Amino acid sequence: HDPEYLRLARALCDRYGVHLICDEIAVGFGRTGTLFAHEQAGIRPDFLCLSKGLTGGTLPLSVVLTTDAVYGAFYDDRGARGFLHSHSYSGNPLACRAALAVLDLFRDGQGGEPVLARNHATAQRLDALCAPLAAHPRVGAARRLGMLWAWDIDVDGLPGFSGAYHLAARDEGLLLRPIGNTLYFMPPYVLDDAALAQLAGGALRALERVCGP
Ligand SMILES: *Cc1c(COP(=O)(O)O)cnc(C)c1O
Repeated sequence: HDPEYLRLARALCDRYGVHLICDEIAVGFGRTGTLFAHEQAGIRPDFLCLSKGLTGGTLPLSVVLTTDAVYGAFYDDRGARGFLHSHSYSGNPLACRAALAVLDLFRDGQGGEPVLARNHATAQRLDALCAPLAAHPRVGAARRLGMLWAWDIDVDGLPGFSGAYHLAARDEGLLLRPIGNTLYFMPPYVLDDAALAQLAGGALRALERVCGP
């Protein structure tokens, strides 16, 4: 969302006494350049849904954070007032340990460097490597936010672009799945220079194979 959209949604929720839920399962944990995306709007949600990046994608785990007020509304010695909710694998110890390891990385940095600053440098290197991709005649609107890249492809006369591109990218060792005619990258944060070159070069080679030079 545009940050202004989130600010207006927050204001509407405040006005009518409605809880605002931010689902940051995809965009949380630094994906958009801040630890949480809603920070960029300067707002706080009443509920925050997190998953994927919480374990670095290694194990399935999700959490819902809420305010002390909501927590307090269900905190009682009487079970009848509680928010009785569980799943068979709630609090799975392996998944929780993986999440703690990720939180350690965000607190301590990686190789002495804060994760978000490191990502910023990685993103700038990938931006530079993707210049030839952006210059391809079929490639239109290019944009990036944090560690998310997207390009709109002119697929005129290319039926089934998304599936064909997915297969061509696989031949380059890349798992890419355009949404309609939009090619996007949502890469892991640990890409080294060789992986960055493989991603940018392979994505262009796949495009040339599907759309021509
Ligand atoms: C992936 C995703 C989900 C689904 O999460 P599951 O853990 O697969 O149920 C929900 N919301 C957003 C924004 C997601 O990206």
